[in-house]
Amino acid sequence: MKIVRLSTYHAAPRWLFLKVETDEGITGWGEPVIEGRAASVEAAVHELGDYLIGQDPARINDLWQTLYRAGFYRGGAILMSAIAGIDQALWDIKGKALGVPVYQLLGGLVRDRMKTYRWVGGDRPADIVAQMRNHLAQGFDTFKFNGTEELKLIDSPRAIDATIAKVAAIREAMGDSVDFGIDFHGRVSAPMARVLLRELAPFKPLFVEEPVLPEQWEYYRPLSDATSIPLAAGERMYSRTEFKPVLAAGGLAIVQPDLSHAGGITECAKIAAMAEAHDVAFAPHCPLGPVALAACLQVDFVSWNAVLQEQSIGIHYNEGTDLLDYVLNKEDFRCDDTGSIAALPKPGLGVEIDEQRLIEASRRPPRWRNPLWRHGDGSVAEW
Ligand SMILES: [Mg+2]
Repeated sequence: MKIVRLSTYHAAPRWLFLKVETDEGITGWGEPVIEGRAASVEAAVHELGDYLIGQDPARINDLWQTLYRAGFYRGGAILMSAIAGIDQALWDIKGKALGVPVYQLLGGLVRDRMKTYRWVGGDRPADIVAQMRNHLAQGFDTFKFNGTEELKLIDSPRAIDATIAKVAAIREAMGDSVDFGIDFHGRVSAPMARVLLRELAPFKPLFVEEPVLPEQWEYYRPLSDATSIPLAAGERMYSRTEFKPVLAAGGLAIVQPDLSHAGGITECAKIAAMAEAHDVAFAPHCPLGPVALAACLQVDFVSWNAVLQEQSIGIHYNEGTDLLDYVLNKEDFRCDDTGSIAALPKPGLGVEIDEQRLIEASRRPPRWRNPLWRHGDGSVAEW
């Protein structure tokens, strides 16, 4: 079998799909994207295509190493996301060619279903309790929301108190019927994170995510030493080599690589194994589309330390389009009454793309950008 064509489709809300075709008629799908930089990743995919056309798609390991090493320059959000989507498509082809789900090729199931959680509250959290009540009635009991809005390097106790009041109101309304992680989204400096973690601990969040920016990862260990709240991070780390010093230093309880950003299934399965060796849990980041989610689930189903899967149903970014709109086999992604998805039954990644609908949507490509936030003094704030 040989790879003959790579086609990309940029479609609402902010997703990029890759279709890899072979001379035997088997096609694979991937989702290579960085949110807000889809066109850059799309260009990288087609540039990397020079190494793929005419090659045997079954040699995933060799093709991955070629894409990673052959260009001399490597790593980073754009290149590793391009490799990620290509890698997903190659696994999809291999599974379809052999007639088995990808998790069978990775050694088989370690669990029957994977627990997922939902986003509530959006960028500037409001009405979280009402949303949680609604979702709880549908079986979801685990959530994530943003902890703060803009926060200065050193901010007033009023800003801390606003976050604490919000979390306190959730616990008061929902009691222990729900679990939640709180995403600091890299908006918080280490000194402010120290204060927030101390004040949040009585409300027992499942985890705090990106307590500081990933480039400030040296603070994970001292922050973790100062709190009982498990710390999570990894959506902006793109390879094993980036996770290596972070895991070695300690401090993270959960790693969250993104299957569409960190080199795909091939790389993220290895990151999961590295984390397991450090007794660290695995919870892939996935605010993206259905191919990305299917790729995450394939690794979750074979990784003993996978604890939670993010998914984007109803996420605030999905304006006008939701997770399963381009999916034909929607029933395979239904969450049960524990918010869990059963092992995907179909060969390959387990997602059947509604190609006509996707092609139609790609005629009006989105120009999604994250908001540019500024502090009161006019300086740029972390979003
Ligand atoms: Mg996050």
